[in-house]
Amino acid sequence: MIEERLIRADATKLDELAEIMAAQEHAELLHPIGMQDISIGHKTVEKVCDAVKALTPGKKVLMVTGPTLIVDTAGNNVKERVRDLLEKEYEVDWFVLSEPDSIVHATPENAAKIQARFEGVDCVVGIGGGTICDLCKYATFYFNKDNPLPLVIVQTALSVNAFSDNSSVMLINGVKRTVHSRYPTILIIDLGIVGAAPAEMNVSGYGDLIATWTAPVDWYLGNVLGMGKNFHTAPSDMIRTQCEELLENSEKLAAGDAKVLGDLANVLTLSGLSMGLADESSPASGSEHVMSHLIDMASGVRHTGICYHGTQVAVSGINSCIIWDYLLNDFDPKAVDLDKCYPSLEEMEPKVKAAFDWLDDTHSAANECWADYEKKLTKWHANKEKFRDFLDHFDEFKATVAPWVKKPEYIADCMHKANAPCRYSVLNFPVDAKTATWAMNNCHLMRNRFSVIDLLFYTGVWNEDFVQKIIERADGMDAGL
Ligand SMILES: [Zn+2]
Repeated sequence: MIEERLIRADATKLDELAEIMAAQEHAELLHPIGMQDISIGHKTVEKVCDAVKALTPGKKVLMVTGPTLIVDTAGNNVKERVRDLLEKEYEVDWFVLSEPDSIVHATPENAAKIQARFEGVDCVVGIGGGTICDLCKYATFYFNKDNPLPLVIVQTALSVNAFSDNSSVMLINGVKRTVHSRYPTILIIDLGIVGAAPAEMNVSGYGDLIATWTAPVDWYLGNVLGMGKNFHTAPSDMIRTQCEELLENSEKLAAGDAKVLGDLANVLTLSGLSMGLADESSPASGSEHVMSHLIDMASGVRHTGICYHGTQVAVSGINSCIIWDYLLNDFDPKAVDLDKCYPSLEEMEPKVKAAFDWLDDTHSAANECWADYEKKLTKWHANKEKFRDFLDHFDEFKATVAPWVKKPEYIADCMHKANAPCRYSVLNFPVDAKTATWAMNNCHLMRNRFSVIDLLFYTGVWNEDFVQKIIERADGMDAGL
């Protein structure tokens, strides 16, 4: 029985959360949450000066934003409001990041532009969505890892879970990479601001949480097979029940119900914290995220923008639920020929490189992916005995993970009710069938982290026909391509 305090966790009570985690069995596997305060509520942004004051006696604030206009539910310009508040007590340098196509990317180059303004700065205040947050975390951390500048983030949409974790998803050499960075010191979520965000952005946060039904099981699977480390149940136990309630309230979320929006803010923030507790993104990023990452990587070649992260993850999440449903109901461990499950490095290198070589002229994406995949394959070879053991005890594994997954049909039904896009072709930058199918086929070749797709690939199940079957089953739910 999971304790009530854990399943009803409140992201704004960090001390209580630390206490709950310290009381867990194997608490030594859980990392401390390096945040000072999280506020979720109405008019919380009015206390932005108090937030800065709590972090520094200094007087110079660097305010970092993107180029787009953001208004709150009362119609006020949010960035100007924050600047006006800050200017009452601080000297403010407002830096607007922009790129020619007006879509700001989380690249080390943009982080360097932020760092170039750090001279004499006492505190950074980032106002925006996931990209601005990732850039501020990355820029401050890599400027001074031992003593990064205090960072206050004013979150403007419930678009992703990454506001409350200690990593940044960066576009490095054209490849999406999750890199260790730092937590915001203080996170401010004003329901009057996020409540005015475009509905598709908040539905994106709801979509990011669909990973709750696949990423933790991928994480557990990797640990059982010796391919990952430090699995702990608490990070996911902390959000599963509240996530379930959110799914049940999908219709209300679509209708803009203020209470459900507040619940979404809490669960999404907890989901970010779950990654911090694990000190890796595994609790919230499994096979569904890699499919989505590949689509992002192809966007440059396709000359299209990058879709809202969570909406794209959720469509991929339906696929991942189908894959898990296959593993738990149709996979036959006795049919596996163990010796055929270990392709050599020489065999895989050209396959991995061929999958990504079309992304750029310099082979940098292909080389980056192979460098990471090579580590996974080497580890897979080294842990053969664990896989043998897994096959022998497959029923035990199934019994453990069964409560952690959901039927794909149920997830798709909830997403329809939430008005969340269920097909790649209706995302805010529509993804064509060829790109989506490529992403599904090749996602397991992109990174070091093990998922259910690796298991199916090494056992000979995962191929183009299998992907086609996933597409057909999703189509039956009015989802997929
Ligand atoms: Zn995500």
